[in-house]
Amino acid sequence: MVEQVYELFALKYAELARPARQNFIFQDIHDGPMPLAYYVRVARSAERTVVIDTGFSAECGARRERRILRDTGAALALIGVDVGAVGEVVLTHMHYDHAGNFAAFPRATFHLQDREMAYATGRYMAHGRLRAPFDVEEVTGLVRQVYKGKVAFHDGDAELAPGLTLHLVGGHSHGLQIVRVRTRRGWVVVASDAVHFYANLRTGNPYPIVLNVGELFEGYRLCRRLADSEHHLVPGHDPLVLERYPPPRPELAGIVACLHEPPVS
Ligand SMILES: [Zn+2]
Repeated sequence: MVEQVYELFALKYAELARPARQNFIFQDIHDGPMPLAYYVRVARSAERTVVIDTGFSAECGARRERRILRDTGAALALIGVDVGAVGEVVLTHMHYDHAGNFAAFPRATFHLQDREMAYATGRYMAHGRLRAPFDVEEVTGLVRQVYKGKVAFHDGDAELAPGLTLHLVGGHSHGLQIVRVRTRRGWVVVASDAVHFYANLRTGNPYPIVLNVGELFEGYRLCRRLADSEHHLVPGHDPLVLERYPPPRPELAGIVACLHEPPVS
């Protein structure tokens, strides 16, 4: 079978100012401003459009004092994707900033790892620090999608389509999945929160929201193995992604990055 080649986009929908020390477990770092960017991503071929993560709603953002720049539907519209027509969504994990807004996706099937739903609805959620990155309204919203028959569960690695595969990574959450996408420049890995910032990977100093540090380091290894090079590995929350990859149109600079294009810096 001929492998499909995808265009791959990162679209920024929100941001959060914070100091660098909050982005690393080990505190041997130079402090200073180091904002988080929040993205949804889209893989698009001639035959299919797959959205990777759905973002948080304005209401959830307000509850957590996060500023939304544009809602998910408006972000997707920037590259001509109609959120109401999207048929396939990969949820990398169920943290509030990755898995919300289900009402905006009436036609979608949501691809999720077994382990993630078990984690988000199981005994560890009795611990406040562990449930903090989850939003009970979004978690129950996804449970409702299960009961509508709209969630496709995976147990480990899976091929969603030729040229687009899912890979289970522990560490940050229990059932995070990264997405490997065939583009015209080779295999690109959407690491999501397996790698928050380039600097986490470069320094081997992870982002502090971690369930299992050992599995997280193994995830770094898997990301590197699946990507054609370090320049094919896209972290989940780094604003630098928008500087390293060109926008599809000049007016989308700083908002949309074309991950299927070679990095510009
Ligand atoms: Zn996360």
